[in-house]
Amino acid sequence: MVNGRLRDTSLIVDLDALRHNIQEQKKALPANSRILAVVKANAYGNGLVPVAQAAMTSGASGLCVAILDEALDLRDNGIEALTLVLGITPVENALIAAQAGVSLTVGSLDWLEQYHQLAQVAKPQKPLKVHLGIDSGMGRIGFTTVDSFKRAVKLLESPEFEFEGMFTHFATADSPDDTYFKQQVQHWQEFVASLDELPPYVHMANSATGLWHQDTITANTVRMGISMYGQNPSGRDLKLTFNLQPVSSLVSSISFVKQLKAGQSVSYGATYTAKQDEWLATLPIGYADGYPRCMTGYKVLVDGQFCDIAGRVCMDQMMVRLPKYYPVGTPVVLMGKSGDKEITATDLADQAGTINYEILTNISNRVHRVYR
Ligand code: PLP
Repeated sequence: MVNGRLRDTSLIVDLDALRHNIQEQKKALPANSRILAVVKANAYGNGLVPVAQAAMTSGASGLCVAILDEALDLRDNGIEALTLVLGITPVENALIAAQAGVSLTVGSLDWLEQYHQLAQVAKPQKPLKVHLGIDSGMGRIGFTTVDSFKRAVKLLESPEFEFEGMFTHFATADSPDDTYFKQQVQHWQEFVASLDELPPYVHMANSATGLWHQDTITANTVRMGISMYGQNPSGRDLKLTFNLQPVSSLVSSISFVKQLKAGQSVSYGATYTAKQDEWLATLPIGYADGYPRCMTGYKVLVDGQFCDIAGRVCMDQMMVRLPKYYPVGTPVVLMGKSGDKEITATDLADQAGTINYEILTNISNRVHRVYR
């Protein structure tokens, strides 16, 4: 994937804000609690390796990714911290994980038995670090019965395994209604209570749990995702319980400017027609950069003022109406602050009919990342 270093469009990643967010979460947890920084999906769009490095020097005890390839990318870049793959890894690739010291999520007895057999033949040099995933109500992956979980724990006594952790994931921790959340907690507690000895890492909390259910956290580790990037997991439904600073700003600049005459139209479909003479700027960013096409009709910030997007967002460019002439090179903020105005990831998400997570993770690799 080509990285657009030579065009004036970037994602500014504020690593001080990331540090601040981790520290705020730590302050809100009991002493000795640990944080696993969730850096899957290119660190929610912000760049896997720089964010992982920053998280590890800001108080995180380890990292979570979604797939083994992400974990190996961390290892290739010299990051040896605990790295847990949250998704299910094909059994035949688990030998690679063992060799790299990457921890895997296991959600079934079947998987463990298959690896046990594989290990008899392949004789891996290192034990495979395992976190047992418990499905307490998310309905995605993991053990659903205490009986199968306990049999799995027994199997983990075999020398090719290291029982490093157990965890669950909540479906509604960001909801004002905590009924379902409480049911999940209760189910999870049954699994915890079934063991005489717990593994070193016991984790149940995602960002929303770390923000709104601190009193229910009976585990010793929080998996911090969207809140580490300074975003509210609930969008606007619940108020933050500690201060978060947004980490990511999407900025571009005017690449072309012209005066549009009344009656002239702009962009594909000619859906926008100037009612009077006006200044029109073109920006070098479009939907192939992850700025959604459905933002047509929304706004950006130029010199601390909201400016309307004129016509359809194209693949690589888009046009905005200016209140007056601004020269080529004038900065434009699509997400972030300009003067005393701000467009947040949640603002963009509301406009696009999605969630702030998707806005961040969709920023494409073509957009150059700048770390501050
Ligand atoms: N834990 C698991 C298993 C996840 O799948 C995710 C993200 O989807 C997270 C933690 C982090 O969630 P959040 O970004 O809401 O903190």
